[in-house]
Amino acid sequence: MASGRLDLDGNLIKPMTICMIGAGGFIGSHLCEKLMAETPHKVLAVDVYSDKITHLLEPSGGVSSPSVDRIQFHRLNIKNDSRLEGLIKMADLTINLAAICTPADYNTRPLETIYSNFIDALPVVKYCSENGKRLIHFSTCEIYGKTIGSFLPKDSPLRQDPAYYVLKEDESPCIFGPIEKQRWSYACAKQLIERLIYAEGAENGLEFTIVRPFNWIGPRMDFIPGIDGPSEGVPRVLACFSNNLLRREPLKLVDGGQSQRTFVYIKDAIEAVLLMIENPSRANGQIFNVGNPNNEVTVRQLAEMMTQVYSMVSGESPLDTPTIDVSSKEFYGDGYDDSDKRIPDMTIINRQLGWNPKTSLWDLLESTLTYQHRTYAEAIKKTTSKSTAC
Ligand code: UDP
Repeated sequence: MASGRLDLDGNLIKPMTICMIGAGGFIGSHLCEKLMAETPHKVLAVDVYSDKITHLLEPSGGVSSPSVDRIQFHRLNIKNDSRLEGLIKMADLTINLAAICTPADYNTRPLETIYSNFIDALPVVKYCSENGKRLIHFSTCEIYGKTIGSFLPKDSPLRQDPAYYVLKEDESPCIFGPIEKQRWSYACAKQLIERLIYAEGAENGLEFTIVRPFNWIGPRMDFIPGIDGPSEGVPRVLACFSNNLLRREPLKLVDGGQSQRTFVYIKDAIEAVLLMIENPSRANGQIFNVGNPNNEVTVRQLAEMMTQVYSMVSGESPLDTPTIDVSSKEFYGDGYDDSDKRIPDMTIINRQLGWNPKTSLWDLLESTLTYQHRTYAEAIKKTTSKSTAC
């Protein structure tokens, strides 16, 4: 572990205290691991759950036990806890990861989605601004909504022109569907909090960085329904497809699986966040796309690749019918809509932080599905044998 770490400009990095809100989630757990393993920084970990970081909190916690003194868990809900401001004041930097961010909720629980992503984030921004504290706020690539190209005729050659689909932080518009398509409640709430943070920077001098994750995936993402989450719950695509593979069910392709996504390995993305944490002069006032433009697939191609990789890591043969089509209405209910394509422009993050993702889609799926198989296969077998016995 490093003392004497240097930033990108060759200056010594001083150890800092970080108030991490949402530290117990997928991204937070990886970020805490990285900070404990490779830096001298302290973390005030704020969340309502700690299951994904217990290995860092317990004295006997194996790999990372030396971290115990540098990470402190505070079980609190930022909606209604007066301790929040005190924790932000104690820290040099606040990172806000707390959010509802599963599409199945956007159209079925739009109020919770808006409250969680906008209203609940307000005090965090306010306390940082009033106390002169730096803020790294997690937003989303969904803020871009649909591409301009998606409105062109299907056979228009302009659809192939990057000017019509590459998403740029400082140029691309935010294009959402009508209000009755409640899918966009999330993107819209995120857009408004981004605008508020930006305005706090402009009018009150808040030092902020906004992160727009483009489909970060890896171990510990979301939950497997019926094992570590509700059996009727619908997580994001990686966990949905993992669940299907583990249960030997066909993978469900929503509306033909034609939407395109770029997936980035969580460990690559965390490297980018660490650069932001340790290089404030390069990260303050910036909005960063963090994704891997080289890992683009349609959802159908993702399903095919995951089927192949899972068969390799589990030793089980693929199903004869590995995928089935479902309508979005059937799968998500009314008010669902979709982003067609998400290619991040990398100019700003390259220029400011010199960051580039490294891991190919195949490699990241191999390590992630190895983890899924090791973590869940036995538990799934037990629940399936129980339900057949009943
Ligand atoms: N999707 C799918 N089958 C599933 C889950 C998701 O076809 O079992 C599709 C979904 O409609 C979307 C894409 O996969 O087009 C990615 O969905 P995800 O929930 O991961 O989040 P998003 O990238 O839309 O924010």
